[in-house]
Amino acid sequence: MGNLEPNSPLKERISLALNNEFLRNAVKFTTERLRKGKQTATDELGNWEEWRSYGQAIRMHTIAHLDYYLSQFVNNVRAAGGFVHFASTAREAVEIAMKIMEAKQAKSVVKSKSMVSEEVHINQALEEKGIEVVETDLGEYIIQLAGETPSHIIIPAIHKNKKQIAELLSQVAGEPLPADTAILAGFVRSKLREKFLSADIGITGCNFAIAESGSIVLFSNEGNARMVSTLPKTQITMMGMERIIPTWEDLEVMATLLPRAATGQKLTVYMSAITGPKRSEDGDGPEELHIIIIDNGRSNQLGDPEFQEVLNCIRCGACLNACPVYRHVGGHAYGWVYSGPIGAVLTPVLQAEKEKWGEVANASSLCGACYEACPVKIPLHDMLVYLRRRNVEQGTTKKREQWGMKVFQKVASSHKRYRLAIKAGRIGQKFVARKGEIKAKIGPLKKWTAHRTAPALAPRSFREMWQDLQQQQTQIELDPTIQKRMEEMLKKRGDQHESEQK
Ligand code: SF4
Repeated sequence: MGNLEPNSPLKERISLALNNEFLRNAVKFTTERLRKGKQTATDELGNWEEWRSYGQAIRMHTIAHLDYYLSQFVNNVRAAGGFVHFASTAREAVEIAMKIMEAKQAKSVVKSKSMVSEEVHINQALEEKGIEVVETDLGEYIIQLAGETPSHIIIPAIHKNKKQIAELLSQVAGEPLPADTAILAGFVRSKLREKFLSADIGITGCNFAIAESGSIVLFSNEGNARMVSTLPKTQITMMGMERIIPTWEDLEVMATLLPRAATGQKLTVYMSAITGPKRSEDGDGPEELHIIIIDNGRSNQLGDPEFQEVLNCIRCGACLNACPVYRHVGGHAYGWVYSGPIGAVLTPVLQAEKEKWGEVANASSLCGACYEACPVKIPLHDMLVYLRRRNVEQGTTKKREQWGMKVFQKVASSHKRYRLAIKAGRIGQKFVARKGEIKAKIGPLKKWTAHRTAPALAPRSFREMWQDLQQQQTQIELDPTIQKRMEEMLKKRGDQHESEQK
């Protein structure tokens, strides 16, 4: 499945994903592998829950004092010789970057993976100006060739197989390449080397920005972030305003949490820390460093008791791997750059057109697996409920849903009506239930059961069984023969006990 037109309805995007057998298997396979890796890595640590609480405390504290730490960070970047720019919108971020491009008369750009740069659509703007931009993370490079956006925060090409990747790279090579991982990776490596050496500007994201020293920290497994931040003469770093952590000590906690939660690694292969541009004694590094701090809807969440915690996110992707919805539909169905549970919250929260994006909050079963997976304990499942409530308050939920909820409220708020409804359901399900499962071929349940297992209503409810049990017990108590025998037995035991005491 290529990128879906984000303007297409959510239902349509989900339906396309569900009918793409390959995508479903690929996403399931990789998320399962990542989940197992995370489980092993966190078990090894022994006290993962303590680390989670520690990480949560650091993020809560930082976001609660974001103004202070941002200003400390900015002062330290400037003191180290870097330039800092603030962008309140995606458009402003692009404009700032384009001004730097113009000043440097840039013709080519290399980029390391950055979700916030996807968020502001910097590639599109660069291409429109005729500036060559090349993604250097292997997954990002693949989806750039395919003209798509990432379908996972950390594995952007999760939905592609070796054959599809070989076809894309063969177009670049101008000859057919075999679907062999080592050959394909080798080809990309040689292609990217040329680009690194000739690029005018390198654009990076930022995993963490350390306030006490004005440093930015990049985690990567391919070494490309290091090349992007050392070879071109000018570096632009795009970061969301919430990427800050106060100290290097806090980085130790984040470096323990992020790789383990993301890929099950104890640490990523590379971790680069950049403080200011190249100094005279440095062997390499950019001559100019520009950091663009992007708001784009984030500051609206500050002080909001329901959504402020979403700014604690460290973009590890663990909630995607745990989510039963993401694991079925992959990332593009969510319609924007962020997917999975964090995308279902971030999209309606950050996007200005709330009415258009509100329904993404429905792409969740509210099971809470995202919260359990999150290394900084963000209660995404609660936020999804708040967003749904917001949809109801704004009247953007569908009439059918509003009507359905009213009926449900009526039924669930009265014992009598509830029991009647269950009885009616048991009769009705005779036409659609087979071997304890509902498989509807027509009617409103058809879509619900097309891709899910819906258990049939049990022949007898727990309440009915409980009543029977109580009746049986009452009968036992009232049975005079049993009563007499029990009394005799108890008396005998009492006599025995007494004689033993003597
Ligand atoms: S919400 Fe939590 S689990 Fe999901 S990407 Fe952010 S930090 Fe990771």
